[in-house]
Amino acid sequence: MSAKLINGKEIREDILEELGRETLALKEKTGKVPGLVTILVGENPASISYVTSKIKTAKSLGFKEVQDTQSIDISEVDLLSLVDKYNHDDTINGILVQLPLPSHIDEKKVLNAIDPDKDVDGFHPVNVGRLMIGGDEVKFPPCTPAGIMELIVRAGVETEGAEAVVVGRSNIVGKPIANMLVQKGPGANATVTIVHTRTKNLADHCRRADILVVAAGVPDLVKPEWIKPGACVIDVGVNRVGEKISEKTGRKIALLKGDVDFDKAKEIAGFITPVPGGVGPMTITMLMRNTLNSFKYSNNIPV
Ligand code: NAD
Repeated sequence: MSAKLINGKEIREDILEELGRETLALKEKTGKVPGLVTILVGENPASISYVTSKIKTAKSLGFKEVQDTQSIDISEVDLLSLVDKYNHDDTINGILVQLPLPSHIDEKKVLNAIDPDKDVDGFHPVNVGRLMIGGDEVKFPPCTPAGIMELIVRAGVETEGAEAVVVGRSNIVGKPIANMLVQKGPGANATVTIVHTRTKNLADHCRRADILVVAAGVPDLVKPEWIKPGACVIDVGVNRVGEKISEKTGRKIALLKGDVDFDKAKEIAGFITPVPGGVGPMTITMLMRNTLNSFKYSNNIPV
């Protein structure tokens, strides 16, 4: 293997340790801790599993964590008043509404009802705007792209003047990561191209990339011959391609694959993230960082 493996699990542990230490110091200084609420509607097993991981991580850092589970029948009006209750709760710094919501509820209306100063997912239009402006305006960068930036910077990849190509233009990964890479400042300053389903000559664009971020959701979309030798390849894709038996538990678990043909790409790239264990572990970690930062903003503590 010629590429350096960017290990998201190790980087997650380093960051969580930093956040845990900071939370303790802030508790000693202010007598308070950051608070995170997750609102779950119904009993979708995947949603329960996501919410449980978020709450478990928040707890391990010493945050106040509230899991507010509501019946699948809750009305839109009642859900909006619940969000409003947490908007006005001084012990809560971050509000998460787990998606998807049942079809009788307008998701957009609910997400837009979250106070932008508690929107630790960074999906509220106000926070999307702040991200676009960049610099000090950015309060809550969306978690997966923020995690990608952290991986790139901590791996020591040069972004200054680099050709960055982002495959995918979604609002949660493609567009925000392109926006972050193009910003003026250290750890960014890249020249960015976004490619998507209507792009002509996808392979030619990818071949130019010093930094290739792939978030398409198509297994093995990026072929080894599309990768520039020495490039940094960040594979965001998580594709279920079958099942396997877990070595730890002996139970059946999903077999996951990224959007890049990892085994061949690692012989050409300079840096590469595996799937799983690359970008995946970073998302909840960045959610915790946003919650801690929200606490700092509300207590006038520099971030
Ligand atoms: P999405 O479906 O909203 O967007 C996919 C984008 O890829 C679209 O803009 C589309 O134009 C582009 N695309 C799809 N097929 C293409 C092709 N053949 N050629 C060129 N472009 C193509 O998906 P998303 O929410 O951005 O997620 C993308 C992938 O990343 C998924 O596999 C998802 O599971 C994964 N993901 C992982 C994390 C994580 O924490 N690791 C977080 C979010 C998303």
